[in-house]
Amino acid sequence: MARYGKFARMLVPAFAIGASLSAWAADEAQEFSSMQMTGVEPVEVQVDLEGAVQRLSKAVQFPTISNQDRSDFDEQAFKDYHQFIVDSYPLVHKTLKREVVGDPRPFSLLYTWEGKDPSLPPAIFMAHQDVVPIAEDSRDQWLVEPFSGAIKDGYIWGRGVLDDKNQIHAILEAAEMKLKEGFQPSRTIMFVFGHDEEVGGPEGAKVAADIIEQRGYDKIAFVLDESAPLTPGIFPGIRDNTALIGIAQKGYVSLELAIHAVGGHSSMPPEESNIVALAKAVTKVEEAQFPFKIHDAVRYQVRFMGPELPEAQQPMYQAVAYGNNDTMTELEQAFIEAMATNPVTRAMLRTTTAVTMFNAGVKDNVLPPAATAVVNFRPMPGDTPEVIIAHVKNVINDERITVRDISASTPATNVADPHGKGYQLLEKTIRQTWGNDLIVSPFFVIGGTDSKHFQSRPFAQDVYTITGIQLESTTEFEGFHGVNERILVEEYGRSIGFFYTLMDNLEAL
Ligand SMILES: [Zn+2]
Repeated sequence: MARYGKFARMLVPAFAIGASLSAWAADEAQEFSSMQMTGVEPVEVQVDLEGAVQRLSKAVQFPTISNQDRSDFDEQAFKDYHQFIVDSYPLVHKTLKREVVGDPRPFSLLYTWEGKDPSLPPAIFMAHQDVVPIAEDSRDQWLVEPFSGAIKDGYIWGRGVLDDKNQIHAILEAAEMKLKEGFQPSRTIMFVFGHDEEVGGPEGAKVAADIIEQRGYDKIAFVLDESAPLTPGIFPGIRDNTALIGIAQKGYVSLELAIHAVGGHSSMPPEESNIVALAKAVTKVEEAQFPFKIHDAVRYQVRFMGPELPEAQQPMYQAVAYGNNDTMTELEQAFIEAMATNPVTRAMLRTTTAVTMFNAGVKDNVLPPAATAVVNFRPMPGDTPEVIIAHVKNVINDERITVRDISASTPATNVADPHGKGYQLLEKTIRQTWGNDLIVSPFFVIGGTDSKHFQSRPFAQDVYTITGIQLESTTEFEGFHGVNERILVEEYGRSIGFFYTLMDNLEAL
């Protein structure tokens, strides 16, 4: 997944709102003032920081890599990591039910912390064990060994320390602390720690979602998974520290385009070679972009973030925040034009089309008998694989070219409620942990994480995504899938406090 895949660095926000908003016409005078929660009292949580840091450092040392080539999988690294987790959190393993799940490879962890009141719908905390590989050509830019788990200059360093073992261990540290105090949650809390998030989660999180759904819960009340960490300036145009809470995620579809025709000797070429025929087809697909539309999650984001943005653009943000999906006003059109100037915000407005692979030919004097290409789409709601395949075939209009879905495709997800109690308790917990001097806003995630396997199903649509840790700057954020991945020791302590406080606050959901 590209570095910005998991969440958008948004230049300008926007999206289309659901039924609850459809009654709000843009030309009706709507109150458009700050939606930020104020006056939340800080909560101090005492953490065994030294012990916790040692454990996270050790966790980073297990090379639980997800390679694109799925046959290249280090089972032992996962087994050793699992044993380390069991040994490190004795109370968690004494009290919670632990299951190792996944198909065909069972390396995901599902924990169930039985609540006092079985009638309450459960909550789920998610994170993932796997990490992306170290790109060979970036190795010399690392200031430490990527899998050393070095603790140096006030930071914990290494692959996975920010994406996403920090979140696994902050959750486990918080649970261990709560258990030591004799706490039992009212509602059942499950932990889902996937083993293949970085390749879409088809073996791990998807199977965990199947298992939990089959257990007959009518509804999951609250799901929390990773996304953007708190970072100043992560939202362009806003220099303030910002906490973005993902409320919806795009889908994922990859199509293979192929041509199988006559090859031959390059001394006697046909009028059109297979490579050229396929190149023409992918060119047509790239040129036929899907239309722009404003997703509900974008409208929600603008509703929360718009009032914090410059005065001059307030009418535009107001029109988007309270617009409806049946009509497009001039102000909404202007918003789309502004968003479309940047690849990140543009991706929030439509099903994207990206030609990612092209393979043909093995020798300079041989015309290859076949050529294949792959196009990756990130669908908006409604653009199902069937819709996309029909669009592609129609655009190519060439019977020689076959089109097939090669992905473990997922649809765009439902939208979590940004006005509901789940969002509010999350914002409260963020402010209890990091104070009131920051902007909290919902946003539309243009990539996706393991939680999409829950959020795309009706029984678990209230999924909120945020990586509960504070970064110093956008530079530090570059460690996500990049080099010198690191987090501040101090902030890791606060992250544990965040999950500890969240477990308390969930009592009031
Ligand atoms: Zn991640």
